[in-house]
Amino acid sequence: MTRILLALCGLTPQIITETLYALHQEGQLPQRVILLTTRAGRERCLKRLLGENGGLRRFFADYGLAASACRLDASDILTPAPAVDDITTLEDSVAFQTTREAEVAVDFSLAGGRKTMGASLALAAQCYARPGDRLFHVLVSPPDFESQPDFFYPPPVPASLPRPAPPLPPLSTDQARITLAHLPLVRLRPCWPPSLLEQPQRPETFLAGLSLAHSPCLRFHVRQRSLSLGGRTCRLPPVEFSLLFSFALHKLRFSCTGDCPSGCTACYMDMPTVLEHGRKVEEIYRKVCTTSAARSTTGILNLSAENFMTYKAKLHRQLRQQLGELAPYAEIASHGTRPNVRYGLRLARGHMLMDEEW
Ligand SMILES: [Zn+2]
Repeated sequence: MTRILLALCGLTPQIITETLYALHQEGQLPQRVILLTTRAGRERCLKRLLGENGGLRRFFADYGLAASACRLDASDILTPAPAVDDITTLEDSVAFQTTREAEVAVDFSLAGGRKTMGASLALAAQCYARPGDRLFHVLVSPPDFESQPDFFYPPPVPASLPRPAPPLPPLSTDQARITLAHLPLVRLRPCWPPSLLEQPQRPETFLAGLSLAHSPCLRFHVRQRSLSLGGRTCRLPPVEFSLLFSFALHKLRFSCTGDCPSGCTACYMDMPTVLEHGRKVEEIYRKVCTTSAARSTTGILNLSAENFMTYKAKLHRQLRQQLGELAPYAEIASHGTRPNVRYGLRLARGHMLMDEEW
């Protein structure tokens, strides 16, 4: 079993040698270290950990460890790609990758970096961790050492010498104590459908998937222009029904299994696709609209972005009136910010039924 330390780092790379020291004391030195940090943090790590006479080299030498015992080189210090993703996305993706390997145990360390980085890594750990993976914080005492820029780890104690006398100011580094504070880990991994574990996900996607697993079925009755959901029925005007039904038909073409409530790029449509999709809406409309009065609604026959938003609002009003708190299961959800908003249905296709072939 290979052990990987997945650690956060801010502007104080000392936390990494401190963590390695504590793990070494426990006999759990990892074979590999992956650091997640900012660009400024990476510069510091390269200089102060990996550089000439850097903290990591000194730690290895002082404790008689071969550099090959624990790999940490420049390529293991990861930062978010500029303008592409943020640190949370990087954390999700690295947590996903490292927990994929069967013969690897991952130690998630929250010591280092900003609190927001730690909070999101802890969430990612809860979503991905397997039984052998661990989550911990690193405590340095007395706390004075945390603010000392030159303190990287306590020096080895020669076997023949007793520990020095109780601390008297100024403190010397051999009085430092470093401990791992293991944190309880809610292991949610067994709750996810396999499709959610095929690529990195945001915790909110996981959690939405969790609630969708228990969601009701949405059944469409095309002739009646109605739908039933959780024991309730909702009858819709032709335009609103056509719009919603077209989204349901669209969703049926994708094999997503409920892992897309936060804006899946496969089954959620951007506005140009919605407008292209307008032909389908028109086709449904012509079939379900049986009275000439209703047929006078021309906007649906040449869908524009403005019409789409108006009809969507009318649809949601109807759904809320008739389905109450269940309405969100049937609504056309939007995700993202303008102009990159995507629209789609939250329910997985397995939760949608039609009473006739279409
Ligand atoms: Zn999807």
